[in-house]
Amino acid sequence: MAALHPSIPREVTDFLTAHKTYYLAAHLEPDGDCLAAALGLGMFLNRAHGKFVRYFDAGPFDRREIQHLARQFEGRLDPATRAEDPDPAVVVVDCSGPDRVGPVAEDLVGLPTLVIDHHATGEPFGDVQFVDTSAAATCYLIQLIIEEMGETPTQEEAEILLFGIATDTGYFRHTEARAAGLFAAVSRLLLAGASPKLAHQQMFGGYKLASRFLLARLINRAQVLEDGAAIVTWETLSDVEEFGRGSRDSDTLYELLFAVDGVRMIGLIREEPDGKCAGSLRSIDTIDVSKVALVFGGGGHRRAAGFTISGQVDAIRDQVVDEFLSALKRSSNP
Ligand code: AMP
Ligand code: MN
Ligand code: MN
Repeated sequence: MAALHPSIPREVTDFLTAHKTYYLAAHLEPDGDCLAAALGLGMFLNRAHGKFVRYFDAGPFDRREIQHLARQFEGRLDPATRAEDPDPAVVVVDCSGPDRVGPVAEDLVGLPTLVIDHHATGEPFGDVQFVDTSAAATCYLIQLIIEEMGETPTQEEAEILLFGIATDTGYFRHTEARAAGLFAAVSRLLLAGASPKLAHQQMFGGYKLASRFLLARLINRAQVLEDGAAIVTWETLSDVEEFGRGSRDSDTLYELLFAVDGVRMIGLIREEPDGKCAGSLRSIDTIDVSKVALVFGGGGHRRAAGFTISGQVDAIRDQVVDEFLSALKRSSNP
């Protein structure tokens, strides 16, 4: 029988006991998984091993569901602090490449670095790498590391890890057959006191009614390709102004659109300040949207990928439409 869980390399647990200070770094435009992975591991290292920890993330902390975590993260590390911290080492979580760490990477140069990740695209970096692309979330790997080190997460750690797993799996909607290991791990988080209801509320609750109007706008303007095989929509800065920053609820948008019969891919292009656009791409079947994201200089997973690029929102949307049409054509004539 195949192993229930990925095994944890010895170099990973050795790394996490060898140093006195750990700088935990998560990715730009953070999501629940990266922040929860940093916090879950950091809380554990501090509690169980007496390590001194600091958390880094350059933000922006735009996603509503992570705003309560933002204050624990610093954007940069100043050299005087680094010089005073005893025996520091770095753990980078949920980052597919060094560029995803952002400007704080410059402050961490020269320190021993462990990378814990689950992305399919990207370039290897760091002194020790633990990248498992079969893992549904980096938080799942963090839980397995804690358990490999002979401990059970506390209720607080279990809650944060469940939140991270829930956010990366779309509250388990994207998990498939062969997810028994993940659910067994989640069961142990529940035994430790984590609440599925609380994780759901953190992910999906707390919006204003305006957020539902924004969803309606984005659905109303959606461009439908190939009889509904792909749907592309976009959000402008004036939408953000009209409905409020906290109104974005991309996960619910994907859920509503993936309910449409025959849809295989969804694209959401968001106009950002400074002439940039962010793209979020989702796939429900065999089409690999990380390959589409690569065309725009981004990356991610087969079924969830993204990018940030300079350009006007209409132009980027048209390019995404073209790339989606090509991907659909390729998948019908492989
Ligand atoms: P998002 O659509 O922003 O939720 O991102 C979906 C996935 O794509 C996440 O796993 C991200 O790590 C990845 N991703 C998003 N933006 C980028 C980027 N600029 N470069 C590489 N990967 C990205
Ligand atoms: Mn992430
Ligand atoms: Mn992740």
